[in-house]
Amino acid sequence: MSNYVPEPFRIKVIEKISKTTPEEREELLKKAGYNLFAIPSEKVYIDLLTDSGTGAMSDNQWAGIQTGDEAYAYCRNWFHFEETIRNLTGLKFVIPTHQGRVAENLLFSAVVSKGKVVLSNSHFDTTRANVLANQGIPLDLVIDEGKIPDFIHPFKGNIDLQKLEKTIRHYGKENIPLVILTITNNSGGGQPVSMQNIRETKALLKSYDIPLFLDACRFAENAYFIKIREAGYQQKTIDEIVHEMFSYADGVTMSAKKDGLVNIGGFLALNDEALADRIKEHLILIEGFLTYGGLAGRDLEAIARGLKEVLDEDYLEYRVGQVKFLGDMLEASGVPFIKPTGGHAVYIDARQFLPHIPQSQFPGQSLVANLYRRAGIRATEIGSYMFAHEDSSTGEMVYPDLDLVRLAIPRRVYTESHLRYVAESIIKLYHDRDSLKGMKIVAKGESSLRHFVARLVFIE
Ligand SMILES: *Cc1c(COP(=O)(O)O)cnc(C)c1O
Repeated sequence: MSNYVPEPFRIKVIEKISKTTPEEREELLKKAGYNLFAIPSEKVYIDLLTDSGTGAMSDNQWAGIQTGDEAYAYCRNWFHFEETIRNLTGLKFVIPTHQGRVAENLLFSAVVSKGKVVLSNSHFDTTRANVLANQGIPLDLVIDEGKIPDFIHPFKGNIDLQKLEKTIRHYGKENIPLVILTITNNSGGGQPVSMQNIRETKALLKSYDIPLFLDACRFAENAYFIKIREAGYQQKTIDEIVHEMFSYADGVTMSAKKDGLVNIGGFLALNDEALADRIKEHLILIEGFLTYGGLAGRDLEAIARGLKEVLDEDYLEYRVGQVKFLGDMLEASGVPFIKPTGGHAVYIDARQFLPHIPQSQFPGQSLVANLYRRAGIRATEIGSYMFAHEDSSTGEMVYPDLDLVRLAIPRRVYTESHLRYVAESIIKLYHDRDSLKGMKIVAKGESSLRHFVARLVFIE
């Protein structure tokens, strides 16, 4: 078992969390249609639903909140925000949004139309949905090693460059408005992408004149993995690594709710001026003026400060170490999960955990529902329930490569003892896995984001 890297902070404010009984939770689950998104947060003991917007801000960020300039146009915090992102990414045009998905919406509605193909290592669910909403085709080209849950590889988030080139030739470069690398690769297990892979992707795309975008939600965690795992980077600072990563990008979409260390916010940054101008018009229509994009002045300030804080190597060592610590405890009891652990979450392999439940009965969702029922822990399914869909031409069901349950760790929120409770609860469930049942959907939305709204029941 690995050592725990102590929290590089002390606690100044606390928030009470409450225990509930298994009977209470059973009732709550029934009412929620076994959809964990519909459970009131006050009824959750340890909430690992997502690491998005759930982090704790620092004293420095809270102090920044007080300096919010709430003028409609060109408030002082906008200048700090813009300058911070320009310095960080080297990109010229910064477009503020209230979440990452709006940055995606603005980008893809500007460059994707019917039949256009967007290539990625793996599209995150909102990214995929935004490509589809514009009648585009999102294709995932992660390396084969990235799809084998217990295969150890330092950069399982890498895109397969041979497949990338083949796919570009197949569809024709004129039909590929951009390639987007998700760093780290959320849907594929929070796995990092190597500097070499980013560099080679850029070089390949340059020869076809296709822009490279980064979905940079977890850019700092990715940079830390490069530092500890990639030859030649051990002596570099996180700052230097981040700058090199972004030097290959023509644009970036980001949800600041991750490595921005804030509860709300996002942005799009890019170098193409004509495209930026078109997007800005749309921004005013759907989000707000150019210098706030759906955010308050104080939010812009908190993001600017968060984007600097996140580069602290002590923080990143603790952050990545905490996730590994949880993984190591599960490993010691044989619980199957994606190895090595990623940057923000442990991804349990639900198909291996529950081999008796077929994909059509959502093994991951069964695991999630049972984990809440028994231990008050909330996790999220990333598998058949989230992604299975009917092929429009053949009518057959298409299932994703992996059925995962994500235990996402909020930033700077839970301690070592919380993680011990989580590990012990999962290990207990693992010992009792044969009794877990499959599930079926009884009501679903039409959107490609149905997992947020659908209702399910256990198959008795
Ligand atoms: C969270 C996330 C998004 C979307 O960001 P929101 O702020 O939730 O809209 C996009 N891509 C990745 C990889 C993410 O993790």
